[in-house]
Amino acid sequence: MTPAPNAASVPPVLDLSRLTRSYGSLTAVDDISLRLPSGARHAVIGPNGAGKTTLLDLIAGTNRPDRGTITLEGADITRTAPARRSRLGIARSFQQPSVIGELSVLDNVVLAGWPHHPKRRGAWRRPSRYRQQAESAGHHLETVGLADSAGRPASALSHGQRRMLDLAAALAGDPRLLLLDEPAAGLTDDGIGRLLGIIGSLPESVSIILVEHHVEVVAQLATTVTVLKEGRVLVTGPTRETLAHPEVRDAYHHTANGLAGEARG
Ligand code: ATP
Repeated sequence: MTPAPNAASVPPVLDLSRLTRSYGSLTAVDDISLRLPSGARHAVIGPNGAGKTTLLDLIAGTNRPDRGTITLEGADITRTAPARRSRLGIARSFQQPSVIGELSVLDNVVLAGWPHHPKRRGAWRRPSRYRQQAESAGHHLETVGLADSAGRPASALSHGQRRMLDLAAALAGDPRLLLLDEPAAGLTDDGIGRLLGIIGSLPESVSIILVEHHVEVVAQLATTVTVLKEGRVLVTGPTRETLAHPEVRDAYHHTANGLAGEARG
């Protein structure tokens, strides 16, 4: 009989080991190691230029490390191409939402989900394939509150709605690891409230890494935080303790009590 898996035998969803990426004399990501358990809600924060986006690029595969390894659920993906990483379950939403304005809102999500269909190499012309993908896309639009806009051209959406569409597109492949690059940027308070509700309701099967400047969003969504400074890890740990670190507190102009009071972890 196969023994039941226990927590110790389940590999982390993501394991970064000594990851380094330099541009000439500048080391944008400097010897970063990080292990995230499945179901993680992990934020990466730090000042401009700290290396946050470069780190997401390395995980997504759109940038390559000079040194170090990246392991997804036990499989080494350090040299795996970004499209393949996407099919393996790494999805990403961008600082600038990457939607196609000429397509309908629904078709943006259908297109994003297309490469993830189990029969992506065959039967792509069948009308049933489109219907299946459209049904699944409809569910993701409901998740982000855009179901009523499914038939509108994406170009007609507001900035906040485009961000939600970008998130629906990221969810279209049923990812196991979702990389969110500043999802709250440019959103109104209402939009941030909606975003918190949507991300907060994603199932634990989707692990999340969140790069975000809004510390309130980090405090609400993340259970663990890594603070980067000049490419290196300044501090990492549970949200409450990490945000109360003196250097972090000073950088975000909050009192320890104010931040710690908001934090989940
Ligand atoms: P921000 O919060 O402003 O988005 P960040 O923490 O995401 O910043 P990165 O964009 O990862 O920081 O940049 C880290 C450092 O690497 C910066 O000094 C940046 O100028 C540099 N950098 C990033 N990409 C390149 C590149 N392609 N060529 C040269 N330098 C780069």
